[in-house]
This record gives sequence, structure tokens and C-alpha cells, in this order.
Amino acid sequence: MKLKSFVCGNWHEGNGKTAILLNPATEEPLAEASTGGIDFAATLDFARSVGGPALRSLTFSQRAEKLRALYDALFAHREELIELSIRNGGNTRNDAKFDVDGATATLLAYVEVGEQLGNRKIINDGESIPLGRSPRYAGRHILVPMHGAAVHINAFNFPAWGMVEKAAVALLAGMPVVSKPATSTALLAHRMTEIIVDADVLPAGALSFIAGSVGDLADHLGSQDVLAFTGSGNTANILRSLSAHTEGSMRVNVEADSLNAAVMGPDVEISSETWQMMLNEVVTDVRQKAGQKCTAIRRVFVPAEKLEAFCEALRERLDDIVVGNPADASVRMGPLVSKKQLEDVKNGIETLQEQATKVTGHMEPQELVGVDDRKGFFLTPHLFRVDDPASAPIVHEREIFAPVVSVLPYNDAGTVVASCAAGGGSLVTSVYSDDRDFSREMLLALAPFNGRLTHGSSKVAGISPGPGSVLAMLVHGGPGRAGGGEELGGERGMSFYMQRTAIQGYSALLDKFFPDHAE
Ligand code: NAP
Repeated sequence: MKLKSFVCGNWHEGNGKTAILLNPATEEPLAEASTGGIDFAATLDFARSVGGPALRSLTFSQRAEKLRALYDALFAHREELIELSIRNGGNTRNDAKFDVDGATATLLAYVEVGEQLGNRKIINDGESIPLGRSPRYAGRHILVPMHGAAVHINAFNFPAWGMVEKAAVALLAGMPVVSKPATSTALLAHRMTEIIVDADVLPAGALSFIAGSVGDLADHLGSQDVLAFTGSGNTANILRSLSAHTEGSMRVNVEADSLNAAVMGPDVEISSETWQMMLNEVVTDVRQKAGQKCTAIRRVFVPAEKLEAFCEALRERLDDIVVGNPADASVRMGPLVSKKQLEDVKNGIETLQEQATKVTGHMEPQELVGVDDRKGFFLTPHLFRVDDPASAPIVHEREIFAPVVSVLPYNDAGTVVASCAAGGGSLVTSVYSDDRDFSREMLLALAPFNGRLTHGSSKVAGISPGPGSVLAMLVHGGPGRAGGGEELGGERGMSFYMQRTAIQGYSALLDKFFPDHAE
């Protein structure tokens, strides 16, 4: 099967060098992709000149209706999409649902945002501000859609959610989307695009899809375009150096890697409800999508006297995880997504091993369920223990994008904040404690170094989705090495795709032009 790109309103098969998409559990080839011969300048022009005006002619409620129709179309193919996610992504059924259902849930969340914004095409940012001595002269801020194309480049781990969480926000804001999934797992996003195109819901030019490399697309970007990227810090650096950004101030949003942390409060008793909650959330983050989750907990900080007990409890749980071909229903953790990923991870584990003690984990697993002939890109969950955090700087420096977690002891709250901050900026940190003073102090101290914080306690044990779940109504992103970007957050996410303009003049007229409530 040759994946096609959807550009300029048509499907195009690329020529030249192709990339092969595999089933990472069996190494069976599933499809190939190439973008050779695709005219990326024309792709962007079509989005800007055909898709942009069509979207901008719609009100937010009308755009929300389109998103709802996309939801209906995708949801109707849920089983097929889950199946593709299992085959091309190495996902268990639950992991596949996490991606596919996460995508449709995000669409629904933005349907609501659009309905609330209502029958208007611009957003008023705040109210009228009196300027000077006379009330007749005032100013206000409005948000209007940018007139370029929104280019979305996504990582391999969430082909469904990654595509939709960016596209829903941009389309609702009024910008046409050019979406590019990571090639290795593009099968799912490709099928979703086919479903969207067949549903004939969006105006022509509102959605383009690139199956394969982006070719020279970046050379044709301009200052009204925006680029939202999720992936490695190295690729982010290449994109940040594009002249459209450095010279033309094109907006670039980066969601990159992150050494997320979990902190246990000194009050948490062994085997208590809060202890158990923390243990469950750490296990989920190691196992889910084989740890290939940007929000996964990588570093666990526990009071020194509980290091031994927590490591032992965690080891037991990790050793129980059934690893193998996710097509087998008994399997709880699948393979890594590619050979390259597995090689990078093994390299990372060898480096980590020089500074930390391995408690459990096999890089050459012997017992894999449903796997023949030693095929597939597998390793088992790895747990490392660091007795002297000062001797293991690597734990705060290297993201190992895999089922790998390190546990570190701490003696006082000041040290743990400094250690979390040593990760250089994270997407999320979780704090587990029923001590209100400790919790508040810790959340406030950690906030500058994180895009999101979750507080686990006996009050929310059993109802928290855990730090690994990104929610459409809350911002996703983080400072420093996490990319410095921000996505989602309900209406907040739309401002990336819109220009905030200050307007001053006769106050009564401005109120008429830009009423505070939808007509
Ligand atoms: P990657 O190698 O940087 O690739 C990400 C995307 O960039 C892919 O679509 C890739 O396309 C594309 N790409 C690569 N080189 C490019 C270039 N020169 N110009 C334009 N696009 C280019 O990252 P990955 O290995 O897929 O993802 C793993 C990383 O992503 C991890 O570090 C993880 O932490 C991070 N991540 C972060 C988040 C977040 O929300 N913060 C979420 C998920 C993952 P091809 O596949 O065609 O090469």
C-alpha cells in the first residue's frame, strides 16, 4: 500500500525514495510513503488562498458544527482506527484507545469552545479600556485569524491525537491546516484523513495532509503562517532556525522532550491510599505506549527512608507486566515503535547504567507473548535506583523515550525542587501528599519549571486520570527543554493561530464594531 498525500484538494502519490512503515511487533511491512514530486509551494498557496477565506467566512459556531461532523465521521470508524493503531504503532488495545479516543474527545471539547464563542468571527480579548480623560476615547483588544497556513508536524507516538489536537484548535480559530505525521506511524493519520476527506465536511483547502518527509515546504513559509511542532529537541532547533521565523517572525510552537517528575510527600505512609495512587500512576506511565509518551514520569522522588520500599513495590508491579505482540489480548505492553528508537533507547540505558543501579529490566527479553523468530523492537520495563542523586546527573539530562524510570531519594523539600528543576523544564510534575502545607509549598515552588502540575491525594485517588493524560481544557507544553510552547487550554490555545490587535478610537463605535456578546 502506498500512502498518498492530500494536497491542493487532491490525493497525490509521491515518487522517488520511499519510507517503509512496519508493524513494530512483527516487522511486517504495512505501507510505504514518499513525497517526491509534491509541489509544497502550491500546497501552502492552496491552503492560504482557498482554505483560509472559506474558514474565515464561517462563525465560530459554524466551525464548531464542522468539528462535530468530523467527530461523527471519525467515531464511526473507531474500531478500524484502533486496529490500525495496534498494527502500525505497536499499541495494546488500551494504548490505541488512549490515542484514538483522545483525538475524538479533543474534537468534542473544541466543539464546546466554538459553541460558547457563538455566532461571531473574532474574539474580544478583555473589555473596553477608557483611555485619557474623556470616556469617548477608548481601546480594546481583538483576536482575528492569521491569513497564512497552520503547518503541524507531529511525533510518532500519538498519530491520531497529535493530528487532531492541533487541527481542532487551528480550524476553530479559522486557519487552514497542513498536517504532517511522523512517517513511521503515519498509517493511522492517513486513514483518518481519508475519512475526513470522504465525509466532505471541511471547505476545500482547510486540511492538507503530507505522508512522508516535508521536502522543501519550510522554504515556502511566510510571516502569516504558523508552525506547530511536536518531536525531538534536535528537530525543533532546525525548525527554529528557519528564516521565516528568524527574519519573518513566523510563529513557531515547540512541544519537545521532557524529564517529567513525580514527588512523594514525607507524610505518605507505605501502602496508604496516596502511596498506592502514586505507584499506580508511575506504573501506568512506564507501561502505557511502552513509555513513549512525552508526559510520562521519568524521575520519581521519594523521602530517603522510603526509597527501598517504593523501589521494591514498583519492581514487583513492573515485573508483572506482560510484554509482547499487542495483537494478543493478554499483552499489557507492546514494542517500541521502530528499530532506530530501540537502538537509541538501548544506548540511553547503557549510559544511565553507568550512574544508576538497575533494579529490573531486560534489553533482550526472553519471554515475549505472541512473538515469533525474535522479531519486533522489544524491551521489558526498566527500573533504576539512584542512591546518591549528586552522582547521577544523567538522570536529569537524558530523556529515554521508553519504559524506563528512575527512583531517587530526597531529604528535604528544597533539594527536591532543585532536582526537579535540574530537568531543565518539564511538561508535567505530579506531587502526592495529604499534607496541605507541603503540597501548596511544593506546587508553588515547582510551577515555574512546569507547564502543568497534578496533585495526587487520598481525595482524588481513583478519579485522577494521572499526569500522563493531556486534557483539552488545560494547557499542554512546558518551559525550557520541553520546548517553551503551549497548546490546548480551551480557548487559550486559539491565540497561537490569531493575531491580537489593539484598537483605539471612539468608544461607542468600537463597542458597536466589537460587541462583548455574540449576536
Ligand atoms: P523527531 O525525530 O523530531 O520527529 C518529529 C517530526 O518531525 C516527525 O514528523 C518528523 O518527520 C519530522 N521531522 C524530522 N526532521 C525534520 C525536518 N528537518 N524538518 C521538518 N520536519 C522534520 O521526533 P520523534 O522521534 O518522532 O519523537 C520523539 C520525541 O518527541 C521525543 O523526544 C518526545 O519527548 C517528543 N515528544 C514530545 C511531545 C510533547 O507534546 N511535548 C509529544 C510527543 C513526543 P519524519 O517522521 O518523516 O522524519
